Amino acid sequence: MAHPLEDTLIARQITPTPMRLLVLDVLQQEPTALSLADVELHLKHADRITVHRTLKTFTDKGLVHRIEDGSGAVKFALCAPDCTPGQHQDLHVHFFCLRCREASCLPTTAVPTIALPGAYQVQETSLVMKGLCPRCASDAALPA
Ligand SMILES: [Zn+2]
Ligand SMILES: [Zn+2]
Repeated sequence: MAHPLEDTLIARQITPTPMRLLVLDVLQQEPTALSLADVELHLKHADRITVHRTLKTFTDKGLVHRIEDGSGAVKFALCAPDCTPGQHQDLHVHFFCLRCREASCLPTTAVPTIALPGAYQVQETSLVMKGLCPRCASDAALPA
């Protein structure tokens, strides 16, 4: 009997617990990135601290990555399968829709390498582009 959610956790060296399975399930079902508050909304009786810890564990183990889209809340999205603990491979562009305020991963759009002057040492790079997502762009094209 296969348990895809458990297998996903075990592949990242995360011990499956009921809360971890629930949070992973929520993240897998949503096409867009979710904030802590968004995840809590899906889990009616979850304690905020436990959800927060779960997301931190997932981030540390390379299962999810953080997106700072400028909306004020950090959001979380599932990583590509080749991310490993401490070594995120998902240097892709993120898109923030100014209309529906959803953040999405664009996994096939890589962040270009950008050379910095002098002695600057990069530790993180994020590129968030903003505008209208496909759904909102097609709504906006409709006659009022
Ligand atoms: Zn949108
Ligand atoms: Zn992403």
